[in-house]
Amino acid sequence: MSESPKTLHIVQLYPRDMNIYGDWGNTLTLLRRAEWHGYTVRVTDYNPGDTFPDDVDLVIGGGGQDSGQSKIHDDLMQLGDRLKNLADDDVPMLMICGMYQLFGHFFKTKDGDTMNGIGLFDIETHGSDQRLIGNIVTQSDTFGTIVGYENHSGLTYLGKHVQPLATIQRGAGNNGQDNTEGAVYRNVIGTYLHGSLLPKNPALADWLIEQSAMRRYGDFTPTVIDDRFAEHARAVAIKRPR
Ligand code: GLN
Repeated sequence: MSESPKTLHIVQLYPRDMNIYGDWGNTLTLLRRAEWHGYTVRVTDYNPGDTFPDDVDLVIGGGGQDSGQSKIHDDLMQLGDRLKNLADDDVPMLMICGMYQLFGHFFKTKDGDTMNGIGLFDIETHGSDQRLIGNIVTQSDTFGTIVGYENHSGLTYLGKHVQPLATIQRGAGNNGQDNTEGAVYRNVIGTYLHGSLLPKNPALADWLIEQSAMRRYGDFTPTVIDDRFAEHARAVAIKRPR
């Protein structure tokens, strides 16, 4: 098969330190589905100290322990303005758990240390003594039912300038109190859902690809993909005990 002239460039933030509970599966899903939709895909891993590429179509980041978050923190702070400019230029992004927290104003750990975030999302996160762990099912107006797995002790609260990604059907989500899960700012999605998230939520994967293709090429004609296995995985995940 000859290469499509239409290339999409995915940048994966900090895969060395921020990549747990299958988060790398999100990159693989975007790569494969974008190819099925007719694009040639380039994936760049960005780790602390690397040069951030100029031509970026989609940015993704995963979760990590508090220690992983500390390792990438200084580098992320330097990258903050760059990422915010890309967000304001409508580049789609997906940030899971630990990276979601650091895209907010701050993450105050339960030991009382405050890690500043880049403030792309109007959210703040407070470490707690409980861990919110288990399978989670949420409902989104845009994406329908979203299924995944959460494991975090940080409790995230949304400010006025950000919308939740979804409401909780089962599980805890942002904080276990206000029934919200995740956050959306322009084309940037933050969520606590690992799992991997995207293999079980193709609507979300295709939305990210569509936003990046529309931004870069002004059109997106999706291929009809046989999602039987994804549908089966979703059905099983939805029925799993918490
Ligand atoms: N360290 C953070 C917390 O527990 C993030 C965990 C994660 O990314 N799964 O809140």
